[in-house]
Amino acid sequence: MKKISLLGATGSIGQQTLDIIKSNPDQFKLVAFSIGDNIDLGKQIMKEFSPSLMSVKSKEAYDRLVSDSSGQTKIIFGEEGLIEVSTFHSADVVVNAVVGSVGLIPTLKAIEARKQIALANKETLVTAGHLVMEAAKKSGVDILPVDSEHSAIFQCLQGENRKNIEKLILTASGGSFRDRTRAELETVTVKDALNHPNWSMGAKITIDSATMMNKGLEVIEAHWLFQIPYENIEVLLHKESIIHSMVEFNDSSVIAQLGTPDMRVPIQYALTYPERIHFANANRLNLWEIGKLHFQKADFGRYRCLNLAYEAGKIGGTLPTVLNAANEEAVAAFLSGKISFLKIEDLIEDALNKHEVIMNPTLEEIRTVDLETRHTIQKKLAK
Ligand code: MG
Repeated sequence: MKKISLLGATGSIGQQTLDIIKSNPDQFKLVAFSIGDNIDLGKQIMKEFSPSLMSVKSKEAYDRLVSDSSGQTKIIFGEEGLIEVSTFHSADVVVNAVVGSVGLIPTLKAIEARKQIALANKETLVTAGHLVMEAAKKSGVDILPVDSEHSAIFQCLQGENRKNIEKLILTASGGSFRDRTRAELETVTVKDALNHPNWSMGAKITIDSATMMNKGLEVIEAHWLFQIPYENIEVLLHKESIIHSMVEFNDSSVIAQLGTPDMRVPIQYALTYPERIHFANANRLNLWEIGKLHFQKADFGRYRCLNLAYEAGKIGGTLPTVLNAANEEAVAAFLSGKISFLKIEDLIEDALNKHEVIMNPTLEEIRTVDLETRHTIQKKLAK
């Protein structure tokens, strides 16, 4: 029985993680979890899974929850609460499914506490890959990818010697606007952007898919997870999302991982690794039914955010932190109707250009740069 601590239980990955725990009660037990402000869903999770610990984002939500809780689950709040959940004593695996750079400190604390990490929070590796990988190595902790592309690569690498990797090929669906020209992107709406053709995901990542920043962040994530230079990481457009990613080896062999697009598969693999267990509700792959798979070169002119991410990643230091923070702010502004879709990349590019890079940043420096970047963009948008 694996005991699981889940950060970000009400989000898309969080909910699908709970679905796997629920379907396999003899394999998994939820012992602790965190939520943002969705109190109703938090209560429901408490009732259904009876975990020992729950953390909410705000004091206000905490007060409301405590007043009508049965007392079986200890309730806490804030950043401290998130850390307590990520280091909960009886947890074997910590699933980090929070969105944004708020996921970084809990990941580091969980590593320190020698928990196995199932990582869905990209920002952790994007902003502090050097610190996280070093800490994981020092503590002897596995970082198991939950993202479908990284899970695919991780699966392709089982039993392989990493020194034989020629390149990683990350596939990209192209997001909700893959068939539109740049000119057509001028006038797209939030509703259009949220309509992803293949994957059902949270709002932030769906917009990131439309701008291709999601793939850019994944390239940086792959660089750190698998310790591969950016020159050897390629992005390939593949609109069906059937091949989840591939690895080319030095003998020219390419190994790919395939399946129907369902995030529960990579989540479950991270939870059962190195084992696999039966997935009863899987929508199994029928290639004869699909018939054709399509591939296209990723056009950096069309997807400027992808280019920005490669540039930020290659230069490194605090630049990926700026990329990520600027993106989070820009996407939030787009979602709330403050800016147009193409303005997202303008804001990010501008933030990158103005930043003076600090190489090998400490956690403190990363936090400062993250806050400064957000602040500058917020001020700019308030004008
Ligand atoms: Mg992905």
